[in-house]
Amino acid sequence: MTGITRRSALAALAGGALVQGQAPANADVAIIGAGSAGLNAARRLRELGRSVVVLEARNRIGGRAWTESDTFGIPFDRGCAWLHKADDNPYTPLAREWGFTLFEHNNHLDGLWLGDRRATDDERKRQADEESRLDEVMMKRGKQGKDKSGEAWLKRRGPVEDAVATFHGPMSSAVDLDELSTVDYLTIGTDVEPNLLIKEGYGALVARYGREVAVELSTPVRTVRYSGQGVELETAKGTVRAKACIVTSSTGVLAAEKIRFDPVLPEWKRDAIADVPMGLLAKIPLQFRESGLFGLKDFDDLLREQRGKRDIYFLSFPFHLPLMVGFVGGDFAWELSAAGEREAVDYAMHHLRHMLGSDVDKQLVKGSFTQWAGDPWALGAYATATPGNGRSREALRRTVAERVYFAGEACASRWTQTCGGAAISGRETAEAVHKALGAA
Ligand SMILES: Cc1cc2nc3c(=O)[nH]c(=O)nc-3n(C[C@H](O)[C@H](O)[C@H](O)COP(=O)(O)OP(=O)(O)OC[C@H]3O[C@@H](n4cnc5c(N)ncnc54)[C@H](O)[C@@H]3O)c2cc1C
Repeated sequence: MTGITRRSALAALAGGALVQGQAPANADVAIIGAGSAGLNAARRLRELGRSVVVLEARNRIGGRAWTESDTFGIPFDRGCAWLHKADDNPYTPLAREWGFTLFEHNNHLDGLWLGDRRATDDERKRQADEESRLDEVMMKRGKQGKDKSGEAWLKRRGPVEDAVATFHGPMSSAVDLDELSTVDYLTIGTDVEPNLLIKEGYGALVARYGREVAVELSTPVRTVRYSGQGVELETAKGTVRAKACIVTSSTGVLAAEKIRFDPVLPEWKRDAIADVPMGLLAKIPLQFRESGLFGLKDFDDLLREQRGKRDIYFLSFPFHLPLMVGFVGGDFAWELSAAGEREAVDYAMHHLRHMLGSDVDKQLVKGSFTQWAGDPWALGAYATATPGNGRSREALRRTVAERVYFAGEACASRWTQTCGGAAISGRETAEAVHKALGAA
């Protein structure tokens, strides 16, 4: 920690805080958003000697990386939780250096329920084999440019294949398998091991990384003007001028036109935003009186298959905390989000009752539900290209008018959809801007 406050740091960097009526702030680069991509872009640009202004709509940093303790009195990740590709993830060495508590947890399913009964050993094996096969086929067909939906490569014979569809679709990619582009799957894949869970929270790690970055909070950017020299960003607190800007808003936010671009973005960019819409993964955390209940071990994971459409996954008692976290994804997650928290908690409890018995009701303290669907600064969980549009991420990350840059999980050159991918995207974009601006 530098000891410098966010506001004073901004003033030092930008030559004036953003207060209505005061002189506008100026910087080499203005960054829209203080999530993983924006914070990494800011730190990289500072390392390269550039002045930066970071404008964040929320009253906190981290974006979809968000750990909060208010709901249960213990850290809970409302957004990202697994540090994917941990051997290569830029956050892994930082987590170790800063003493975060890590545990390797890969989603290999300790329990699989097919409707009302537990899967047999033979069915478990078939499920694992079919998952590997589907992964291989999608990789192969994707490389051949066969951009059908993932559903084209799976022969559904019954609940075992339905469970496979759930893992590849809603649980991994946040869309149903028939909405998943085979070519885009190359950028996602399921090969993200080793995965680490973080006791103190992934959001807490990103916030720790970002605490040295000066960020103007509660400052939504309403308009990006780029018709003249450089860019002008209009906010309720004033106008920021910069030589270039980096937009890290989700494709949900961009598609909803929460930012007005003047002139309007070119058609190819608007098409790319529409081609890579937000999917939804929603969490239903349930707090119990204690951990280790119902014969479950810490970190056990369970899936209840429901004809592949309304499936629910549970992570049990991570780090011996008294939490079981339910996950639903794809179309059903949007439906449940519209229904609300009480319905979501009831839904999760209904399935736990079926799998573990009615004791779950006696032990429940309270439940909650993540609301990324309606969150105005996310409007979904993460972005997935629709079938036939698997190459649209290239246009999504392409710069407009040599001064409006785009970064974030949806634009990532590697590990799209992930917090680590967003970090890489932020850093790579920062380097591209720095190069384009010439000598610092
Ligand atoms: C439920 C859920 C589970 C997930 N699980 C995992 C996981 O286990 N592992 C993993 O790696 N990833 C996971 N992810 C994905 C991961 O959280 C995201 O990929 C990553 O955090 C995105 O970072 P970003 O910087 O691209 O976007 P964001 O985090 O969305 O950052 C963009 C920022 O821009 C701000 N903003 C938007 N518009 C404006 C505006 N007009 N003006 C000012 N500010 C603006 C937003 O408020 C936000 O803070 C999960 C996501 C969700 C929702």
